[in-house]
This record gives sequence, C-alpha cells and structure tokens, in this order.
Amino acid sequence: MKFFNPTLAFVEENCVRNHAEDIKSLGTKAYIVTGRSSSRKNGSLDDVLSVLHEAGTEYVIFDQVEENPSVETVEVAAELGKQFGADFVIGIGGGSPMDAAKSIAVLMANPEESGECLRSARIGLRPALPLCAVPTTCGTGSEITAVSVLTYHELGTKKSMPYKVFPKLALIDGKYLLKAPMSIIVSTAVDALAHLIESYLNSAADTYNRMISSYGLQLWGEIKECLKLDSLDIEMAEKLMLTSTVAGMAISQTGTSIPHYLSYTITYEHGVSHGRACGMFLSEYVKLYEKHNKVETGKICGWLGFEDTEAFAAYLRELIGTVGITEKECDLYVADLLGNKGKLATFPYEISPEEALKLYTGSLNIAQ
Ligand code: NAP
Ligand code: FE
Repeated sequence: MKFFNPTLAFVEENCVRNHAEDIKSLGTKAYIVTGRSSSRKNGSLDDVLSVLHEAGTEYVIFDQVEENPSVETVEVAAELGKQFGADFVIGIGGGSPMDAAKSIAVLMANPEESGECLRSARIGLRPALPLCAVPTTCGTGSEITAVSVLTYHELGTKKSMPYKVFPKLALIDGKYLLKAPMSIIVSTAVDALAHLIESYLNSAADTYNRMISSYGLQLWGEIKECLKLDSLDIEMAEKLMLTSTVAGMAISQTGTSIPHYLSYTITYEHGVSHGRACGMFLSEYVKLYEKHNKVETGKICGWLGFEDTEAFAAYLRELIGTVGITEKECDLYVADLLGNKGKLATFPYEISPEEALKLYTGSLNIAQ
C-alpha cells in the first residue's frame, strides 16, 4: 500500500481570505495565472488580490490561459513571469489555468529550458516554483494532483507533463461555482466521476487508496440529482467542490485510465469539453470491467445509487449525450489504443481488439 500527497488543502467557506498567511508564506512576488474572464466574475480573483494587497505582496496577472492550454501559451506566460521575477505562482480557475500554472512554475524555475522539456523529461531540473491553486470548477482536482495536461498542436492531442508538481497550497471554496453555467458544472462533475471510477478500477488501486475513491463515489451519488437542476445552492456547490477534490486525491495516487486517454482526441478533434469527452466512455469501460469482476462494479453502482450498469449508462447518456465520429477515425483510434501498452496496463485485465472496438461503438455514434 502507498499514499503520497504533499498538498496543504483546505475546503471551506471564505477559504482564500482565511488562509492569507499560508499564501504569504509562499513568497514575496506572485505570478497569477488565470483564464480570460471567469475568475473576475466569480470573485476568486478579487479574493486573491485582496489578500495580496493586505500583505503588500507584489503581483502580475497573466489572464490568457485558454481551455485545454497549449504549450505555446505556457511558454509565453513563463517568459512574462520570469521578466517580472516572481518567486511563486497562483493558479486560479478550472483545470486549464491550474494545469498551465504548474507547467509555468516548472519553466520559471528553469529559465534556460524551453517548452520542449515539458514534452520529454529532462534529468536534473530544479523543482517548480511554489504553487497555490484556487479551483473554480468542480472537476479536475488539479488543485491536489501533480498533473499538468497540455495541448500539443503538432501531435493533434493532449499530453501530461512528465514531472510531478503538487501545489503547495490548495484553497477550495464552493461559492465560486454559484455563477457558473450548469453546462460547465455538469461537464466538470462528470470529469470528477471519471477520476473516481478510473482510480477505483485502476491496476494501481489498493485498499488504501480505494478508501478515497469509494468515499468520493458515495459523495457523487449525493450530488447526481442536482446536476439536472437549473441552479445550485451553496450547500450543493460546496459538496460538488469537495467531491472534485476527493476525486483529485484519488487520481493523485493511481493516475487515470482508459476513458481519459480516449477522451483526448475527442476533445482535440471534435471540440467536446474534457469532462463530457471522458464521461462518454465511462459506462462501456465499467461494463468491460464488469465482465471480469461484477463485485466491484456492483459496489460502484451501489455507491452512486444505480441499480446496475445499464441504469448508470442510461443516466450518463441522458446527462451528457454523445458525439459522432467516422468509421475511419474509429479504426485509427482503436489501433492507437491497442498500441499503447502503458495505458492498457492501467486496466487490470487484457483487452482484446473486439473489446477495444466496443469501447468506441458502445460509447459514440459511428458513421460510415
Ligand atoms: P477549464 O478549461 O479550466 O474551463 C472551462 C470554461 O469554464 C472556461 O471558459 C472558463 O472560463 C470557465 N469557468 C471556469 N470556472 C468558472 C466559474 N466558476 N464560473 C463560470 N465559468 C467558469 O475547464 P476544466 O474542465 O476545469 O479543465 C479542463 C482541463 O483540465 C483540461 O485541459 C483537462 O485535460 C485538464 N485536467 C487536468 C487534470 C489534472 O489532474 N491536472 C485532471 C483532469 C483534467 P475562463 O477561461 O474565462 O476562465
Ligand atoms: Fe479529467
């Protein structure tokens, strides 16, 4: 059994203001990395700025992180951060700004390196600058994982950075979700669900880390009906955030698995948001596992409050829909999965070519 997660995390009301001293302890010049507009509207940026003003901490803001951030954006941002001479980074927003902030923190600590070092690992890099993460979506758990996923346009897909960068501090407050459109809440909550299931069924799962994913799945069972409402109250918003952070803790121990891997090209080629793209593959993935071990998939359905995997599949299909791809794309994607031994190894049983194909045909609409 193993467990390692060095992030100091707080999930509470007014979290950022309550932990002004913890933020201050990270450094004297802050580089704030955020998306284009949402953090100005949901109050998260104001909360961070008021803490920095009170502490007299200098800062500069980079607010150009796009969804599914590219390595090019990270390079530009790191350059500006170096010019300012920041000694710590604050990532505010969804997974995109928080992931970008991790890669930026690596490049800023290693000014002689380019974005190339984020694609293939270098030995002997200095550790990333200290990072504080403030999430404003309820899905990625990036505030408590060491992962940074970047888009590589030349590869036509997304890849995880080869280094582990755990935020030093994670400040998690449900109130930032209150003004978010339900489409973003649904998509990101389904990402958290994917993290929980992919962690629980992972080859790397053990009794110790399953304590986290099983608790997260029970929490998800409590939030699932609110995803069909038009708006959230603060209690539900806090529970969504907690579920997302718990799901992040789960994948921080095991990593993700096949649905996440399959989602990357669907997001890149078909513009489907990260959470929906992962969610589309979830029920086929669970059914594939069920062929080998009904006990564990039965437990998952029980925690989530579904009678069986069919009921789970129907709920997800209604919640997030699906997308169409061509037969040619399908063949390419199946061949790619079957060629990725590392990813296949995250599933504890062997996957045949027919089963790999079913992951697509059972999840997406395949056209001639
Ligand atoms: P996101 O790409 O960070 O944000 C999606 C959209 O939501 C953006 O338009 C953003 O606006 C908006 N937004 C964010 N917070 C909001 C709020 N409170 N109210 C209203 N709008 C809000 O979405 P995400 O799903 O959280 O992150 C996806 C990324 O995380 C992907 O790149 C994925 O690969 C990665 N990921 C990372 C991990 C990990 O362990 N590190 C795990 C899973 C996924 P602005 O652009 O204006 O901010
Ligand atoms: Fe994810």
